[in-house]
Amino acid sequence: MRIAISDDALALACGADAVAEAIAKAAPDAEIMRVSSWGMSWLEPLVEVDGIGYGPATVSDVAAILDGSSSLNIGKIADYPFIARQQRLTFARAGITQPLDLEDYQATGGWLGLAQAREIGPDAIIETVTGSGLRGRGGAGFPAGIKWKTVAGADGPQKYIVCNADEGDSGTFADRMLMEGDPYCLIEGMAIAGLAVGADKGFIYARSEYPHAIAKLNAAILVSAHIVAPFEIEVRVGAGAYVCGEETSLLESLEGKRGEVRAKPPLPALEGLFGMPTVVNNVLTLAAVPYILANGAKAYADYGMGRSRGTMPIQLAGNIKHGGLFETAFGITLGELVNDIGCGTESGRPVKAVQVGGPLGAYHPASDFHLPFDYEAFTAADGLIGHGGIVVFDESVDMLSQARFAMEFCAVESCGKCTPCRLGSVRGMEVLDRIKAGGRATADPIESLPQMHNAPKQGRSVDEELSLVTDLCETMKFGSLCALGGFTPYPVMSAIKHWPEDFGKAADMVKDKS
Ligand code: SF4
Repeated sequence: MRIAISDDALALACGADAVAEAIAKAAPDAEIMRVSSWGMSWLEPLVEVDGIGYGPATVSDVAAILDGSSSLNIGKIADYPFIARQQRLTFARAGITQPLDLEDYQATGGWLGLAQAREIGPDAIIETVTGSGLRGRGGAGFPAGIKWKTVAGADGPQKYIVCNADEGDSGTFADRMLMEGDPYCLIEGMAIAGLAVGADKGFIYARSEYPHAIAKLNAAILVSAHIVAPFEIEVRVGAGAYVCGEETSLLESLEGKRGEVRAKPPLPALEGLFGMPTVVNNVLTLAAVPYILANGAKAYADYGMGRSRGTMPIQLAGNIKHGGLFETAFGITLGELVNDIGCGTESGRPVKAVQVGGPLGAYHPASDFHLPFDYEAFTAADGLIGHGGIVVFDESVDMLSQARFAMEFCAVESCGKCTPCRLGSVRGMEVLDRIKAGGRATADPIESLPQMHNAPKQGRSVDEELSLVTDLCETMKFGSLCALGGFTPYPVMSAIKHWPEDFGKAADMVKDKS
């Protein structure tokens, strides 16, 4: 009997260790393996017995699971609709292999991409990655091949590959799952990038909230050092600042400085870590590379739509019945993801809003469910797909509170370098608080000063406060140095636009203007 249970952080948090121990006691002759997670979060701990899944399992379910009578039986996991409907390229090993087992990795196609890269050399590697259409999966969507070509062509005595593993968006966990479940895949991707651009040193900048991922990466780096040599990798741990997910701020932090955004130019590709040409790519970008090298550019580019080629590991979270990781080709609609794959809300109430792309992403109403998951389609709809996080809210959510949360998040996480973000976010919170209070009845003492000749002297109505926050969002969007201040207006303005009733009826005026 072969029994597999995940040792992913989510499974552990749900009690996977206790279930594994109980199984070991009850079935001493069984072969128990600790594997990566299939990514079906609502079924963890998921116990797989000879291919058949049982979940979510507790210690008290063990006897029935072992004799096959458990009502938690979901049938063959590989055939379960949530899994069978996916197109898993980056997460092909999820749920199947033991994360640190080199033999498992090799037996499932591991190192084939690196072998091919060594065979064809730097120019052909870059040509292959460019031809695959791979774009940065961290959020910016910049073509990976072009970035690599720039670094390859840059002068410098030392070049670096930096993996951005500071996964801080709400509702996202794909980087964590990949690092915990398939660390050699990331290592292989980084080694291929190093070969392509002429870098022999790589850093993985991981967030401190991911202790399991950090431990697995460190162990995997040690075990595979001889395979990727002369390329070397080090893991560096962040200190909890969201803005360090922005590439230049990350580089500052990696250099041991305060995590503050750098002005561009110079681009990190030309003057990055310690002033040297540097590739900064997200975990998912680098982890897609071994498949591309092993199978060719076309095999990857055949998936997707428009300029969004390949697959995207989409993360379903929030108030959703079937949350988890769903890797599929670009082009699937938002409605399919929320209703067909995620099966609607966990609460059973109607969906009111879906935030796509992390805390800086827009809130979408059900009328946007036709949108295909595609960089350009979401941009055209005043949104973004970011790192592929989808957070679902039911009808009980108050969108004014969500808009205020966006401003508060920006205020807390701002690096402080530029005024629209540092001050605008605080002023934004204040304006939204006043809207909640129904406007301001009396004049502001500062605005009453004679120098403030343009300010109203009689307080402000909700209409006027909404005009003010709209102007403020425009200033933040176009005047901020990086995406934190520049994208905070997305959740705020989308909330006002689509749910004016949550801001008072006067919000219709803002909707008409936008
Ligand atoms: S937008 Fe905010 S986080 Fe970005 S540089 Fe300006 S102050 Fe810093």
